[in-house]
Amino acid sequence: MRDETKCLHAGYTPENGGPGVMPICQSTTYRFDSTERIGDLFNMPTAHMYSRFSNPTVDAVEKKIAELEGGVGAMCTSSGQAASLLSILNLCSAGDSFISTSTIYGGTVNLFAVTLKRFGIECIFVDADASSEEIQKAFKPNTKAVFGETLANPALAVFDIERFAKIAHQNHVPLIVDNTFATPYLCKPFNFGADIVVHSTSKYMDGHALQCGGVIVDSGNFDWTNGKFPEFTEPDESYHGVVYTREFGKAAYIIKARMQLMRDFGCYPSANSGFLLNLGLETLPVRMRQYCENGLKIAEFFSANEHFERVDYPGLKGDRYYDLAQKYLPMGQSGVVSITIKGGREQAVKFMDGLKLACNEVHVADIRTCVLHPASATHRQLTDEQLVAAGINPGMIRFSVGLENIQDIIEDIEQSLKNLS
Ligand SMILES: *Cc1c(COP(=O)(O)O)cnc(C)c1O
Repeated sequence: MRDETKCLHAGYTPENGGPGVMPICQSTTYRFDSTERIGDLFNMPTAHMYSRFSNPTVDAVEKKIAELEGGVGAMCTSSGQAASLLSILNLCSAGDSFISTSTIYGGTVNLFAVTLKRFGIECIFVDADASSEEIQKAFKPNTKAVFGETLANPALAVFDIERFAKIAHQNHVPLIVDNTFATPYLCKPFNFGADIVVHSTSKYMDGHALQCGGVIVDSGNFDWTNGKFPEFTEPDESYHGVVYTREFGKAAYIIKARMQLMRDFGCYPSANSGFLLNLGLETLPVRMRQYCENGLKIAEFFSANEHFERVDYPGLKGDRYYDLAQKYLPMGQSGVVSITIKGGREQAVKFMDGLKLACNEVHVADIRTCVLHPASATHRQLTDEQLVAAGINPGMIRFSVGLENIQDIIEDIEQSLKNLS
């Protein structure tokens, strides 16, 4: 099946006479006919037991997303942050390190640089455009993973997945890719050597700004028996001595994530959230095509307008990530455009406050056009000098184009620009 068909049919097959739409299974518990059967489940989880770590409605969405990414299994989480967190905790313990590119979502930077550090896990940041020799220098004997973002929020840098996968594999560790902005429709990181994919499904995948969510997908391709990952190859004392690679083979990573981490942390989505996410996914391809078309049009509009000194959108010819975008995102580069207005912070705020259709809100990659000013919001704690050092100009605006008629969006921008002095 191709993506459009998978989005509608994968993950759930109605029984004869059963509901055509995957129902909301609103239950924390599942009843069994014997104590022995439940005991067996604690040895080998072959059925749903408790909705803190699995549920039939969410399970159907997990299967659909795994098929879309081309993986062996997926696990949904209650937010994108939870997905990023668990993707690392499934590999790193206190005393370990991992490598991440610095052009990643600001919330992930906080998680990696500040919070994980408190738990004894060190993140070493590298410049995504650095030479392979330089990146190699960041590896240490305790390095357990490499992390990057397909289309970076908000810099819109395109991640060279194949190059980083090669470096990670030379060091016998997996590559984890945050594929949120691209979605599996625009890019399938597993085809380029990535081992694990994470998403914030709160963005395009849900698509309607209804609920927060995340997902981790396992390619099944990484060899966990290479000696660097004893948690996969030695008995898990918290699970009756299960050896994940022996019991679960290619799905060792994703099953370990559920049996250890989701069991203990419990950041699992509700059945209702799974239902809504599935509804969003049904129309993902048709929405993504329109976001990309609107994104390119709006990027071209901004480029041709004298009020803006800089436009970052990898679909624009001449953008420094154009060639990488042609390789990794040939069908389109999403609807998110970073623009820098002349006149700095003050003009940016004035321009944004003058918009009537575009929503001023803390969201991105949504069905409605929305804008955010990183210097006032996500990067508020930095001075203007620090912002420039972090690659964020005080006049930079993250413009996330929605599915309104593109002419209405352009007219909204034009009326706000008219009021700028
Ligand atoms: C929003 C976002 C996240 C965090 O997701 P939440 O669902 O908000 O927790 C992670 N990565 C990227 C690229 C994002 O845009």
